[in-house]
Amino acid sequence: MPTDAAARRHARTLLGRLKKRYPTIRTELDYRSPWQLLVVTVMSAQTTDENVNKVAPALFSRWPEPADLGAANPEEVEAVIFSTGFYRQKTKSIIALSQDLLERFHGEVPRDLDELVTLRGVGRKTASVVLAEVWDLPAIAVDTHVKRVAYRLSLTDETDPTKVETDLRNLYPQKEWSGISMRYIQFGRDVCDSRKPRCWECEMVDRCRFPDKTPFPG
Ligand code: SF4
Repeated sequence: MPTDAAARRHARTLLGRLKKRYPTIRTELDYRSPWQLLVVTVMSAQTTDENVNKVAPALFSRWPEPADLGAANPEEVEAVIFSTGFYRQKTKSIIALSQDLLERFHGEVPRDLDELVTLRGVGRKTASVVLAEVWDLPAIAVDTHVKRVAYRLSLTDETDPTKVETDLRNLYPQKEWSGISMRYIQFGRDVCDSRKPRCWECEMVDRCRFPDKTPFPG
């Protein structure tokens, strides 16, 4: 993907428009510590933030610290997070990451991408969400929304999340990284839906290469 001056200008224009739409933006996931954000981000796969927020209070009141969750009975955790879907795998991951945190990081979430991804169940996306959200550190989380929107808006020709992340890193200055994902994610949710994008009200329409733009309904 070209990262010349014109491509960087294009990227900057898009982000500028997103900043107008979302002057400030935070994750909709509720959390009270970096560890809690790690856990709820893992749980948010394939479900809505709202669903996760519904079960998180019960989870964290029963297992309030990494040591508690790391020693939890998986079946009891499964029963609490059942409604978020994929509950067996998610239970495994949140218990394992809590154990790893305790064993290798004294229960403290490391502020480093390479260290974070050594925790079982934590991938680049989850790690980047935590770094950007909690500490405003330069990290770009690429989820399905970021991937789709970035492709439609010619910020990448890639579909592999790590390569999309590399393209975005090359297009944006580091000081912008922590504010990128959440805005593209929210834009993907609100406007640039995967199946029925709201192209008729989209401020990016003049910059978009998606061929099947949705006409004004009715
Ligand atoms: S014009 Fe449509 S497809 Fe393109 S970015 Fe906007 S909503 Fe998405």
